[in-house]
Amino acid sequence: MKNLVKSRPRIALYPGSFDLLTNGHLDLIRRGQQVFDQLFVAVGFNDAKSSMFTIEERLDVAKEITAEYDNVEVVKLEGLTVEFAAKCEAQFIIRGLRAISDFEFELQLALMNHKLNASIETIFLAADPKNIFLSSRVVKEVWRHGGDVSDFVPPAVFRLLTEKREELLKKLN
Ligand code: ADP
Repeated sequence: MKNLVKSRPRIALYPGSFDLLTNGHLDLIRRGQQVFDQLFVAVGFNDAKSSMFTIEERLDVAKEITAEYDNVEVVKLEGLTVEFAAKCEAQFIIRGLRAISDFEFELQLALMNHKLNASIETIFLAADPKNIFLSSRVVKEVWRHGGDVSDFVPPAVFRLLTEKREELLKKLN
């Protein structure tokens, strides 16, 4: 039988602001690194959202959390996502879909990225049902009002939230 497997490694970029990184993000990273040969987790900033953690804190915590995966690299997202993906030699962008409410924005983004660079495919991964209600914004709100968020974020994020509580609360106010 002929070997039809392509030898080119499949590389994906998972971009996001990850402010803060939840178990929903981590699930996508875990599944992404199983599907692709190499996965770049690209931590960027979002103009529309003021961030709670600095870019350095978000990079450091993402590195710590993903250290167990030897095909995952955490990088700082700079410039246009598709251009950055091309620089990383990624042929795929992965994004998560939780509910219909994500769909409109994510589709718009995927179509725009396709228009900008048709050789990069956006692949959507459906959220695990147990993470469907998890968003950085909601977890931040619960935490800010004293709720226990330890079930929603990786231990490294929870530790940072505890250690820097006062400083972070000032930023949110
Ligand atoms: P952005 O700042 O671009 O909205 P986020 O850091 O909030 O990025 O999220 C990055 C990606 O991860 C988005 O595609 C988002 O839909 C996805 N995502 C966020 N939370 C979850 C979750 N609980 N389950 C699955 N995907 C998620």
